Amino acid sequence: MKYDRTYNFSAGPAMMPEEVLEEIRDEMLNYRGTGMCVMEMSHRSKAFLAIYEEAVADLKKLMNIPDNYKILFVQGGGTMEFAMVPMNLMKNGVACYVETGTWSKKAIAEAKKFGEVNVVASSKDKDYTYIPDCSNLDIPENADYVYICENETINGITYQQLPNTKGHVLVSDQSSMFLSRPCNVEDYGLIWAGVQKNVGPAGMAVVIIREDLLREDIGPKAPVYCNYNTHAANDSMYNTPNCWAIYCVGKVFKYLLKNGGVEAMEKKNIEKAAVLYDYLDQSKLFKASAEAGSRSLMNVTFRTGDDEMDAKFVKEAKAAGFDNLKGHRSIGGLRASIYNAMPKEGVEALVAFMKKFEAENE
Ligand SMILES: *Cc1c(COP(=O)(O)O)cnc(C)c1O
Repeated sequence: MKYDRTYNFSAGPAMMPEEVLEEIRDEMLNYRGTGMCVMEMSHRSKAFLAIYEEAVADLKKLMNIPDNYKILFVQGGGTMEFAMVPMNLMKNGVACYVETGTWSKKAIAEAKKFGEVNVVASSKDKDYTYIPDCSNLDIPENADYVYICENETINGITYQQLPNTKGHVLVSDQSSMFLSRPCNVEDYGLIWAGVQKNVGPAGMAVVIIREDLLREDIGPKAPVYCNYNTHAANDSMYNTPNCWAIYCVGKVFKYLLKNGGVEAMEKKNIEKAAVLYDYLDQSKLFKASAEAGSRSLMNVTFRTGDDEMDAKFVKEAKAAGFDNLKGHRSIGGLRASIYNAMPKEGVEALVAFMKKFEAENE
């Protein structure tokens, strides 16, 4: 890597492509002859509107988003979406959630404030190390939607197959897998993703929502900001948007288009994850936490089974240039987040380091 940077395995905010950071650096003081930085620019200016419009158009191209879906940039990160989804989509006041780990549990807790929540499948029995069978869920007829967290960032598990929603609207939190592989947008009513995991800086979520789910009136006490329709009707500029994040994610969208799109990312991500999982499966010291059929390509969770050994590994890895390998504080263990921007060499170097560590700690 150039610039003496570290291999950063953080779950988020996380690595961004160096080429994108270089472009941002080059445009920092004078964005394309405007005489100002994008941070200093009115969101109503011609230059910024072009940034916004290109970001929307490029994302549409990248994900093949049909015309009857709106792309929204909403502030408040991922956590805001836990509330906005039920506020906007619970027409009958009933929803189904699949419980697969920390982030789906948070979504469930928030949704309960707004209506009846049915947990229709769960992998709690095995500490959220697998995705439960969702082929025949017990979904009430009047359920407004079925909600999943498609990649559980903390637990390191991901869906191989979407749930059978039996005709109900599917809502997916794609935060930690957004643009890591192709997805058929038409399978969903709403996809949302906090962008600081795989696409940009913190403080914003991308929401892709089917137009028929937008409602002008979501109740007299709902904050105007929390209605998706507010953002849809005002090109995400009802108020001052997160201009900086929109600019940065737009750059990443262009970078992805230039480098083969999500199909190329998927291929690269499968190869990268295999380097790590193959090693974990034959290691005597480290053990992968997730079950083989549910393993995430983005967040690889593992442990030695000894907290002191885990801590020693994190410390020595950091000294060797591999940062942020500690598992989330809520579940412990170890985790390597290997999003789009993590080069394959980074994963290979990590595995080489792990082999050395294993040999030294037999
Ligand atoms: C990080 C994360 C969130 C929460 O995002 P914030 O922007 O920190 O609120 C929600 N869901 C998933 C899957 C995440 O990885």
